Amino acid sequence: NSIPVAKEGYGRVLIVGAAGFIGHLVAAASLRAGMPTYLLVRSASATKAKPTVKALQDQGAIIVQGDINDKECTERTLKELKIETVISAVGGEAVMDQIPLVEAIKAVGTIKRFMPSEFGHDVDRAEPVQPGMNMYIQKRQVRRLIEDSGVPYTYILCNSIASWPYFDNTHPSEVLPPTDKFHIYGDGSVKAYFVAGSDIGKFTIKALYDPRTLNKSVHFRPKSNYFCINELASLWESKIGRVLPRVTVSEDHLLALAAENRIPESIVASFTHDIFIKGCQINFDIEGPDEMEVGDLYPEERFITLDQCFNEFYARLLKGKVGAEGGEKVSKAEDVVITPPVEAA
Ligand code: NDP
Repeated sequence: NSIPVAKEGYGRVLIVGAAGFIGHLVAAASLRAGMPTYLLVRSASATKAKPTVKALQDQGAIIVQGDINDKECTERTLKELKIETVISAVGGEAVMDQIPLVEAIKAVGTIKRFMPSEFGHDVDRAEPVQPGMNMYIQKRQVRRLIEDSGVPYTYILCNSIASWPYFDNTHPSEVLPPTDKFHIYGDGSVKAYFVAGSDIGKFTIKALYDPRTLNKSVHFRPKSNYFCINELASLWESKIGRVLPRVTVSEDHLLALAAENRIPESIVASFTHDIFIKGCQINFDIEGPDEMEVGDLYPEERFITLDQCFNEFYARLLKGKVGAEGGEKVSKAEDVVITPPVEAA
């Protein structure tokens, strides 16, 4: 595996968690952008997630074995490989593993930008019920350590991934929207922002090398993808050519699911409540000195629309497969009734 030639002016990026869902999207975007891309992979995950990591390796990524819990080892890796930027996309259960990572980055002293594992909401603003709140408390602790350490950072707040927002699935875009009934949260009128996985990766990498995003939060609010769940249901119906029954999932029901404290399902229920009942993505303006909106940063760039994403989901439904950019899974095609799409009005 030859070391990719650095795009002029761009140094080496180390991505932690590339075997995971968001990390894979970011690593793929980094490679697409021609960046010299290094993936820090725990030895167990190298085997477990072979197809996804192998695919990235085939595209030019360099695999480095390591665990960010090991500060000294991470420090050595950063120095020896002359890493310039670091992106962490560790999962919710590993947020605190980033403490030794931040300490290693601080000790090395040459890292130009660090993006911690955020990729969701503004954890300093949002107050989901437990157990989701625990994750936000931990993400806040990581933020404070980064800021106190003087490590140059950018927080990526990409809101929801474009998909049907199932209340019990951490990676809803790996599953097709429903074909039997819709679960509608509350009255279904609270809006949210839905971002295609490849756009999460693309704009993360753009922000990584952008001097304007230094020590800032970058919010993803694509106007074309601002939908409430009722509108999302209608959009999917327009693709599958059928009207599906709507089942209301009340606020109390979501709170009860969260209170069950099953991990990760209850965490997803608490975030679902925060997004679709409390409106945590939309109940504030982006106006602080340290925050910006990605569309304002890159007005010339288009986001993939939700309509395009749902066209792709429909194509996968026709093929009898479900999958995300991270890998395809075969679905039980016989379970779904497929009818031709209706013409768009
Ligand atoms: P995943 O659980 O899919 O993947 C996490 C990755 O991190 C795995 O590859 C794992 O390796 C790796 N990892 C964990 N601990 C360590 C460690 N100590 N050292 C090295 N690698 C480690 O994570 P997600 O993609 O679900 O979550 C990433 C971030 O994105 C989180 O902050 C989450 O809150 C957010 N998110 C946002 C979503 C949205 O819709 N906006 C949706 C989902 C997540 P291994 O394979 O060895 O376990």
